[in-house]
Amino acid sequence: MTHNLVGRVVSEREISFHTIKSNVMRLLQPVKKCEILPISSNRFMIKFHHPLDCKHAMEGCPWVLDRNALLFHKLLEGESPEGVEIKMMNIVVRAHNVPISYRTMEVATRIGNRLGSFTQFLNSHQADVASFLRIKVAVDVTKCLQRGFFIHKADDAKTWLDFTYEKLPTFCFLCGIVGHTEPKCPLRYDDQFADPGDDFPYGVWMKASFDRDLTTSRIPLSDISLATSSTKSQSPPITKRGSDKFEFFSRPGGENTACNECVGKENNAMLIVGESVLITNPIHIDPDCQTLV
Ligand SMILES: [Zn+2]
Repeated sequence: MTHNLVGRVVSEREISFHTIKSNVMRLLQPVKKCEILPISSNRFMIKFHHPLDCKHAMEGCPWVLDRNALLFHKLLEGESPEGVEIKMMNIVVRAHNVPISYRTMEVATRIGNRLGSFTQFLNSHQADVASFLRIKVAVDVTKCLQRGFFIHKADDAKTWLDFTYEKLPTFCFLCGIVGHTEPKCPLRYDDQFADPGDDFPYGVWMKASFDRDLTTSRIPLSDISLATSSTKSQSPPITKRGSDKFEFFSRPGGENTACNECVGKENNAMLIVGESVLITNPIHIDPDCQTLV
């Protein structure tokens, strides 16, 4: 019996199958036999002969091939290896500035599910003394990485959470999406694009290993706002719906941000957690946020 995965290298350039095959074997180091077969550009299939080798591949966090994200999808009956969508990447997110009282499994789970799909609260036993929470999450690589969001308490006091990512593969400092770099970012090809120069809204500071003392390299957020937004946005309505529910809301009117598709999703939501309300960061468009970065 074989256990089949479809793999995909998330990169704007095509990587030879020979390179993929040799690197995949080096990364996974399966104990039992497996076959790797080409499918199409940057896409391939692995046929494992043992389920543990297959499980090991699926739990990689993340796999990085030549600085590119390497994703796997377990092929289900009826799915096409050529056409099945492969976009979820396991990664460890560090959540900084989480108040001590919120360092619980419930809050970690909801933070993880806001970032993507929660998998595991890695330092739950040391959460009280840790400087950050480590949360394993499956994130959608077609969406921009989230830099943070606010925790709102019931009294409306808010705390900004910063996120950094462990072993973060190549991503775009302009739109925050994994798989390409800013010189070839699709945003640049938009007629309405306003070039921010070197003042990118995303940066190397999102990598967990980066020196946190250099966070001052983060850009003045108003520059992006003024450069890319033609209308002044308003804060989303905050609505409490109970202590154990969370819901998402869209801002009225919509915004023209640097990345309509992704940044909009990052900005437009709100999450209610226990006694608090979590909202995504209106980082491009809300001047009030600058004081918190
Ligand atoms: Zn981009």
